[in-house]
Amino acid sequence: MIDLRSDTVTRPTAAMRAAMAAAPVGDDVFGDDPTINALQQRMAALAGKEAALIASSGTQTNLLALLSHCQRGEEYLVGQEYHTYRYEAGGAAVLGGIVPQPFEVEADGTLNLAAVEKRIKPDDPHFPITRLLSLENTHTGRVIPQDYMLKARRLCDKHGLKLHLDGARVFNACVATQQPLAELAAPFDSVSICFSKGLGTPIGSVLVGSKKFIERAHRWRKMLGGGMRQAGIIAAAMDYALDHHIERLADDHKHAQLLHDGLSQLDGIRVEPAQTNMVYVNFDSLEQALKVSDYLLEHNVITARSARMRLVTHLDVQSDDIGHIVTLFKQALQRI
Ligand SMILES: *Cc1c(COP(=O)(O)O)cnc(C)c1O
Repeated sequence: MIDLRSDTVTRPTAAMRAAMAAAPVGDDVFGDDPTINALQQRMAALAGKEAALIASSGTQTNLLALLSHCQRGEEYLVGQEYHTYRYEAGGAAVLGGIVPQPFEVEADGTLNLAAVEKRIKPDDPHFPITRLLSLENTHTGRVIPQDYMLKARRLCDKHGLKLHLDGARVFNACVATQQPLAELAAPFDSVSICFSKGLGTPIGSVLVGSKKFIERAHRWRKMLGGGMRQAGIIAAAMDYALDHHIERLADDHKHAQLLHDGLSQLDGIRVEPAQTNMVYVNFDSLEQALKVSDYLLEHNVITARSARMRLVTHLDVQSDDIGHIVTLFKQALQRI
C-alpha cells in the first residue's frame, strides 16, 4: 500500500524500533527518565530556547502552550484554518476559558497583520484581554517567509503580546529553506514541534520556550493526564528521528515536486504548485475525485477523498512509487 493521505501514516522503521527497545528509562513524572531528559535538553538547544517538554501529540503541545500563555477571559489571535483554532476541538476554550479571535488565512498562508492589529482589544472591561498571536509553519505545506514572522514579532512587541508557533512541520521549513531550527524559532515565545509527521515516530511532540513557561506547561500537562512514566521509549524514537529523519525530508520535497510535475501533464485535473511535502490536486467535482480515488485504491494507493485532494509524501513513499502513482492517475482519468 502507498498511503498519500498524510505524513502521519509512517510506521517506525526497524532501526527506530531497535533504538526504542534499547533506551534507558525511568519514571518521567519523577523526572527520572534519562532518555526523556536528554531529548528535552537536545530540543531546547536545537530550538535556541531555555527548556523543552515532551507530550504525546501536537494537539497537546499546542494546548499546553495556549493554556500556559493565556488565562481565562484572555484571547488569542489565530487563522481560521490554523490547527490551533480549527483542528483541536476547541480545547483552549473548553479547558482554558480562552477566547479565540480567528482571521481569514491569506493565499500565502499568513494572516494580514494590519487586520490582526485592528482586532487587538484596548484595555476595557467590555473586552477579553488580547494576549497571544498563534501562527503556523508550514501551513498546508507552505513555508511562511521569515521576514513575515519578524514583522509579526514586532507587532506583538508593540502591543505586549506573546507569539506562539504551531511548528508541527517546522523541520520541513528548516530543510526547505536551509535555515536552522533556532533561527526559525527565534521570533517566537514558544514553538510546538511534531515528531509523528514527516519525522516518522509513532507518537511524540515537543514544546519549547522559556524555563518559566515550560514549568507552567509541565503543570498543565500533569493536570491533563499527560504525565507519562517510562516514556523514554518515545524519546528514543524522537532522538533517532533527529539523527536520521531530518535531512531526508528533502527527499519528500523532491518526491512532491516530481508528483506535481507528472500530474501536471494530465488532462482533467488542476495541480497546484508543490509545497514542501504536499501537492493539492483540484478535480471538477467531488464525484470525479472519488472515482479516481476508488481506482487508485483498487491498485493499493490510498488518497484523500475530496475535490481538492491533498497528496502527502513521506518516509514510506519511495522514488519508484512516484511514476507508478502518476500512471494510475492517468489511467483513472482516462476511464472517467
Ligand atoms: C498534525 C498537526 C498538529 C498536531 O496534530 P496531532 O495529530 O495532535 O499530533 C498540529 N498542527 C498542525 C498544523 C498539524 O498538521
